[in-house]
Amino acid sequence: MLRPMKDCGLRPKNIQANIVLSEFCPAPLQKVTMRRVALGKLIMFRSAAIACLALLAASPAWAQAQAPSDLFDGQALRVILCGTSGPLPDPGRAKSCTLIIAGDEAYVVDTGPESWEQIARMGIPGTRISGIFLTHFHSDHIGDLGEFRMQTMVAGRNQKLKVFGPKGIKSVVDGFNQAYREDARHRLAHHGADIINLKAADLEARPIAAGFRGELNAEEVVFEKDGLKVTAFEVDHDPVRPAVGYRFDWKGRSAVVTGDTALASNLTENARKADVLVSDTLAANMIGQAQKAAASGGNARNAKILADIPDYHLSPAEAAKTANDAGVGLLVFSHLVPSAQARSPLFLADVEDIRPGSGWVLGFDGLRIDLPTGGEEIRQSALLPKP
Ligand SMILES: [Zn+2]
Ligand SMILES: [Zn+2]
Repeated sequence: MLRPMKDCGLRPKNIQANIVLSEFCPAPLQKVTMRRVALGKLIMFRSAAIACLALLAASPAWAQAQAPSDLFDGQALRVILCGTSGPLPDPGRAKSCTLIIAGDEAYVVDTGPESWEQIARMGIPGTRISGIFLTHFHSDHIGDLGEFRMQTMVAGRNQKLKVFGPKGIKSVVDGFNQAYREDARHRLAHHGADIINLKAADLEARPIAAGFRGELNAEEVVFEKDGLKVTAFEVDHDPVRPAVGYRFDWKGRSAVVTGDTALASNLTENARKADVLVSDTLAANMIGQAQKAAASGGNARNAKILADIPDYHLSPAEAAKTANDAGVGLLVFSHLVPSAQARSPLFLADVEDIRPGSGWVLGFDGLRIDLPTGGEEIRQSALLPKP
């Protein structure tokens, strides 16, 4: 049975700055009874209980990790990775997700499976998320859209959440709204209208790229607010047409997210002089080895799929070349395929030759990049432990 936190006896070593507290005692500690506690431990028990109550008093009802307070201070354009793997399973990484912070608002590019969990682990408040930009509708880019809908609603979002995307966005958004509508009704019945605003619960489709004709040369400003300009541009993820990347410009700093794409001149043009390029990354050499192994092992189905995928993604070397040609400041490898082997020297073979030095980084969930206004500085830090 769960016991209220006020009755629990956390040992001091259990109390950490970033521990995720609940309103109840952690399971192992519920077994602690006063009878078993020796006199020496009783002192620890009492002092820990006081600390426990103090932490609870300082925490909201849904206590969670706290994001650094400077994230929304308006001093920098910020890029935070909330999902860095491709479709293959990797317990250390969520699937495609990049968070952009401009001023006091956050925007999300793609909502791959498990990405909400990384947002929550970093303590990014759901009410700060003002818009979602989808690059295309492969499942590794949209799987958590329902979680973003639900979690930002529970966090107190008071208007519909805008979801931008190319042709097809309306049916995707309608589907997630339909799937999660019952959930919202249940929560309204349970928590009441002061907590759950049903009128604001829905996602709102914002179609973009109506003028893109599949010629891989189009671009369009799709959003402007408080000095932030978001440009969608067509990329080559054929047969997915249109598939887009996004460029964010704010107060002289800029970040580009490629989406999924093969080598494409339109990407290079739209990444021109960007401070940060968050790139699709597929190690074609490693996938080629896996394809041969599947074929020789008689797994024709996997062999076919593995043979199909390299031609609509960027290899690390192609991403490095794109970054060089565009004059990008920092290249960030994300959407890593296969991400579980991303630290193998084979994965980034040739990158050091094409782009030597510190102009690139292997992305990981929680990588934070700050681009302070009024200069060219690019700062890197971590909001989550590296995998
Ligand atoms: Zn894709
Ligand atoms: Zn993908």
